Amino acid sequence: MYILVNGEYKKRDEVAIDLEDRGHQFGDGVYEVIRVYDGAFFAMKEHMERFIRSAEEIKIDLPYTIGELTGQLEELLRLNKTEDGGIYMQVTRGAAARKHLFPGKDTRPELTAYPIPCSKPAKEQEVGISLSLLEDVRWLRCDIKSLNLLGNVLAKQEAHDRGAYEALLHRSGMITEGSSSNFYGVKNGSVFTHPANNLILNGVTRMKVEELCRQNGIEFLEERLSTEGLVSLDEAFITSTTSEVIPVIKVDEGKIGEGIPGPVTRKLQKLFDELIAKETKV
Ligand code: PMP
Repeated sequence: MYILVNGEYKKRDEVAIDLEDRGHQFGDGVYEVIRVYDGAFFAMKEHMERFIRSAEEIKIDLPYTIGELTGQLEELLRLNKTEDGGIYMQVTRGAAARKHLFPGKDTRPELTAYPIPCSKPAKEQEVGISLSLLEDVRWLRCDIKSLNLLGNVLAKQEAHDRGAYEALLHRSGMITEGSSSNFYGVKNGSVFTHPANNLILNGVTRMKVEELCRQNGIEFLEERLSTEGLVSLDEAFITSTTSEVIPVIKVDEGKIGEGIPGPVTRKLQKLFDELIAKETKV
């Protein structure tokens, strides 16, 4: 496997990350996961734009332009002969003596990327999943795709321990998102989801689903849902780069709608599959 390290392609055992890398010690960095279908990147532009924005928000100066970085990732795909899978990419503020204050300008950001296995969660997409409701105790800049994922990790584990596929996070009874996904409710044919503000990550899949809704006459409303409102939903689903669109049929012990994937979710799954085929065809 080839790994991209600051513009160079190295073998796994040639990669050495410094003990005092700030990603390692402070989670001081940002990341992206980009899906690859049929040897082509899906939604590359959106992922790159979000990566640049996340880096800017935490004041990391990326040493590459979007064009340069895209070229490097394309070369990485080619070297690894990745057909179906993903690329994980992260940048940290670099290595320096362990002090909270940013290091000087001579410290160079550390950018790494490598292929990860990734395949369609076909069973979950077909039958649907259950979620477990948990309090959202994360920081107030969830719009930044930060390496600091402790709140997300703890929530995902707790949901898993309770037998659910994913956590459904809420702040004081208002639903935000999943631990690694966006959440949507469907009522009377309209799709409701949390506004893209500081309390959620604006998912690339969310952006695509919004576009698909608008193009196909499905009302897409950025309105918060309450935990009490879950019982009155007709359908629910989650989205993410690796999950795509997965129906939600249960939240803890409560069924969503009839407890089976609903027609709006099914329609969006189909439209999303068509979009993947369209955007990644050679
Ligand atoms: N919210 C959170 C907290 C996430 O970690 C993710 C997955 N990266 C998402 C939403 C979905 O984002 P995307 O569709 O870009 O994968």
